[in-house]
Amino acid sequence: MMGYQSNYQHKLFVAGFNLEKRIRKNHILRKILEKIDFNFIYKEVKEAYGNNGNVSVPPPVILKIMLLLVLYNVRSERELMITIPERLDWLWFLGYDLDDEIPDHSVLSKARARWGVKAFKSFFERIVWQCIEAGLVDGDKLFVDASLIDADASNNSVVDTQSLKRHLNKSYRHLEERLDDLTEQKATPANTRDISTTDSDASIVRQGKGKSKLCYKTHRGVDPKHEVITATKVTSGCVDEGEVLKEIIETHEQNTQKKVDTAVADSKYGKIDNFLLCHDLGIKAHVPSIEERHRGSGRQEGIFPKEAFTYNSESDTFTCPAGEVLRRRNYYKKRKHYEYKASSGICAQCELRGKCTRSQDGRSLKRHERQDDLDIMLTYATSREAKSDIKTRQHLSERSYARSDRYGYKRARWRRLWRMEIQDFLIATIQNITVLITQPKDRMSKSNVQIDQISKYLRQKWQDYSITAFIERFFSRFAFV
Ligand code: SF4
Repeated sequence: MMGYQSNYQHKLFVAGFNLEKRIRKNHILRKILEKIDFNFIYKEVKEAYGNNGNVSVPPPVILKIMLLLVLYNVRSERELMITIPERLDWLWFLGYDLDDEIPDHSVLSKARARWGVKAFKSFFERIVWQCIEAGLVDGDKLFVDASLIDADASNNSVVDTQSLKRHLNKSYRHLEERLDDLTEQKATPANTRDISTTDSDASIVRQGKGKSKLCYKTHRGVDPKHEVITATKVTSGCVDEGEVLKEIIETHEQNTQKKVDTAVADSKYGKIDNFLLCHDLGIKAHVPSIEERHRGSGRQEGIFPKEAFTYNSESDTFTCPAGEVLRRRNYYKKRKHYEYKASSGICAQCELRGKCTRSQDGRSLKRHERQDDLDIMLTYATSREAKSDIKTRQHLSERSYARSDRYGYKRARWRRLWRMEIQDFLIATIQNITVLITQPKDRMSKSNVQIDQISKYLRQKWQDYSITAFIERFFSRFAFV
């Protein structure tokens, strides 16, 4: 028999209602509250509040509201505040009762300005440390990648800096400062010429054959064991990936208190400076070399590769396939390499010239002033282990950014770099929290220790994270049922 709903009468009073009982045991917000101590923020932002005046909304509540904003990817802060009284789980998470007054949305922007980036950075670092304590981070191998974020500004706001003085406005001084910053960050000239008057920290970036956009760029270091983000940084969109590698490695080491043994990245990081940086830091760079990638293509197509020439370290000369000697001629200070050439006229009469060079001046070779160190690094970069890591990187990094997509990382919520840093720290923190709360409680039980050991052994033996991660997940499933 079908039931009919009678006319609904709103109750004026509800007795025996308990928010605590309404939230299911495996609710994500309950798990977050069980694992995360939000009270740390009191100490962190203490200096930002005075001793007199209006009493503020408690900082842990504000932090939790910001967490909800990103976790549920709510586009507007007004919308979030309107929704809070309608959501029992959110009320419970924030420690509010049904009839408590919800703060105005402006508390969030005021808190961001008052607290600054430091508080959110500290939150991120604390969660990374919790992940380490839970045994979720190895720390010795680091996967590095970067991704563009669309700025919250229209392309129509972009002006040509060379005619900027005609558009003198309030923000002109700041725009000039930003141009100085970009020069320090080694941005390309094309990116420093156009600047947005709406968000002067964002920069115009051309994405493939697509349209140019105003962008920021997020750079991140991911530990492969459970894909915990151990280091993150936002820059203007035009900043080159390779320039940030050192900072990402240092941040990872600082946050994890572990020394990086291997850095894995794509060919955008495969610059000479980065190989030498890793050499000096005692790190194996599993990074495809840009030079290697372009070898044999373009103008080099069909001509003898560098390997066809034999280097003699005693005489510091090269011997070419025709048996002629190429001696050191010039030093290029900017690129820090020497040029080697045969005596004038020899190449012009050589029978192999067609296969060797297209230059009228004959064939020349370049050798970096630290070529021996570079050769060591390139041996690591082309090893079997490196090839496997580079393959794993593609999936691991894409997965990490795909997860960030749920929290709206592709679009800037706010304007200016410092606010973008806050957004970036919040997203990375939430991603790490989800790793933390999905792990079984007794990670260090006997079976877990064994799984850890098996996994580590397989990794060392096969040097393949994708296979070993699969095996680890497979065993873990049975161990915790
Ligand atoms: S072109 Fe010059 S460098 Fe090349 S093989 Fe001939 S002599 Fe040697």
